[in-house]
Amino acid sequence: MSAGLVQAAYIIAALFFILSLAGLSKQESARSGNYYGIAGMTIALIATIFGPESEGLVWIIIAMVIGGGIGIHYAKKVEMTEMPELVAILHSFVGMAAVLVGYNSLLDAPEAATHAEHVIHLVEVYLGVFIGAVTFTGSVVAFGKLSGMISSSPLSLPHKHKLNLAAIVVSLLLMKWYLSTDGGVFPLILMTLIAFAFGYHLVASIGGADMPVVVSMLNSYSGWAAAAAGFMLANDLLIVTGALVGSSGAILSYIMCKAMNRSFISVIAGGFGQEVVISEDVEQGEHRETSAEEVAEMLKNSKSVIITPGYGMAVAQAQYPVHEITEKLRAQGIEVRFGIHPVAGRLPGHMNVLLAEAKVPYDIVLEMDEINDDFTETDTVLVIGANDTVNPAALEDPNSPIAGMPVLEVWDAQNVIVFKRSMNTGYAGVQNPLFFKENTQMLFGDAKESVDAISKAL
Ligand code: NDP
Repeated sequence: MSAGLVQAAYIIAALFFILSLAGLSKQESARSGNYYGIAGMTIALIATIFGPESEGLVWIIIAMVIGGGIGIHYAKKVEMTEMPELVAILHSFVGMAAVLVGYNSLLDAPEAATHAEHVIHLVEVYLGVFIGAVTFTGSVVAFGKLSGMISSSPLSLPHKHKLNLAAIVVSLLLMKWYLSTDGGVFPLILMTLIAFAFGYHLVASIGGADMPVVVSMLNSYSGWAAAAAGFMLANDLLIVTGALVGSSGAILSYIMCKAMNRSFISVIAGGFGQEVVISEDVEQGEHRETSAEEVAEMLKNSKSVIITPGYGMAVAQAQYPVHEITEKLRAQGIEVRFGIHPVAGRLPGHMNVLLAEAKVPYDIVLEMDEINDDFTETDTVLVIGANDTVNPAALEDPNSPIAGMPVLEVWDAQNVIVFKRSMNTGYAGVQNPLFFKENTQMLFGDAKESVDAISKAL
C-alpha cells in the first residue's frame, strides 16, 4: 500500500470514528454508531498492517490472533454487571501500551532532521510515558474497586495533596535531567515509577460515590495516552483517535461531575469523602415490609407509576420482567414511566442499555431532570435495586459522603416500594433514610423474583 493510500484510508477511518461517536450519543442510533466504529477500525487496521512502514507481518498477525482470541473470549463471558471492571482493565492496557511504546521509541529513536525535532520527540516520549503510567496504575486500582477486590472507601494518607503535588514537581525536575542528558533512560525510569505511584494514589484516594467520574476520567486519560503514542510513532490516525477518545471522555467526566454536583478538580485531586462522618449507626426508626400481591394491588389502583432502576436491577437481570409489568400496566391504561439517574448502576448509561435490551420503549425512559418534578403527582414509585441515587440524605444531611448530589426525589410520591434483598447500604456505603419514611414499604428478595411475582399477580 502506498503512503498516499494509507493517508486517504486514515482520513476515511477518522470520519467513521466521528460518525460512530455521533451515533453512540443516542439510543436509537447507537447500533449504527457501533457499525461505523467497526468499519473505521477495520480500515485503520488494514491500512496500518499493509502500509509502507509495516514490518514483520507474521508477528503482527500472531499478536492479533492471540490478543483477539483473548478479547473475544472475555467479551463473550463478561456479565453486564462486570462491564465497568472490563472497561477499567482495558484502559490499563492502553496506559501500559503507551509506556512500552515510549521506551521503544526512545531506544529505537527515528532519525530527526533537526535538533528541535529531536527535542520534541524526547518530550513526546516523556509525556507519553507519564500519562501512560498514571493511566495504567489508576485503571488497575479502579478495576480493583469496581470488582470489590479493593475497598471502595477512600485511602487517606496524611498530606495527600502535598504528595500529589510533590510527584508532579519531581517529575518536572526529572524531565529537566532527562533532557539535559539527551534522553537519559535513568531519569525516565525514575519518573515512570513515580507516575505509577501517582496514578495508584490518585484513584485510591477517591471515595465510592465519586467512582463514576473516575471511570470516565480514566477513559479520557487512555485517549490522551493513545494520542501520545500516536505522536511518538508519527501515526496521524492514532493522534486523531486518541484525541477523540480523550476529549469525549473529558466531556463525559464533566457531565458526570455536573450530575453529581462535584467540582471536577476536587474529584481528580481525590478531595472528596475524607473528613466525612458516615452516619450508618444513627437510629433511623422502623421500616415496613410488603408483599408482591399487595404491590400488584397497589399498582392496579394507581393512575401513574414511575420506575427508578439501579444497580440491583442489573445484578438481578430484572429488566425483562420489568418490561413485562410495564406492558401489563400500560394495557390497563396506567401511565408508566422510568426515571434514570445519571450515575445509576456502575457505568454511564448502564440503565438505558438494560432497558433497551429488554425493549422498553425509549419515549417512556426519562432523565432525572425531566422527571424529578413529577413525583409529587405520582401514585406509586417502584425503586428497583437503586439505593444511593434515591437517597434523601444527599439533600438533607450536609455531612453525608453524597451530600449535594442531585437525587431522584421519589419520596414525594404517594407510595414508594423499594426492591432489595436486605437493609444493606449501596455503593457509597451510606444508610438511606428513604427506607424509614412513612410512605415507603420494602419488598425484600431478589429483584427479578419479586418483579416476576408481581407480574403473575397482575
Ligand atoms: P447502589 O449501588 O446505591 O445500590 C444498589 C442496591 O441494589 C443495593 O442497595 C443492593 O441492596 C441492591 N441489590 C443488589 N443486588 C440485588 C438483587 N439481586 N436484587 C435486588 N436488589 C439488589 O445503586 P444505584 O444504582 O442507586 O447507585 C449507583 C452507585 O454506584 C452510586 O453510588 C454511584 O456513584 C456508583 N457508581 C456509578 C457508576 C456509574 O458510572 N454509573 C460507576 C461507579 C460507581 P441489597 O444488597 O440489600 O440487595
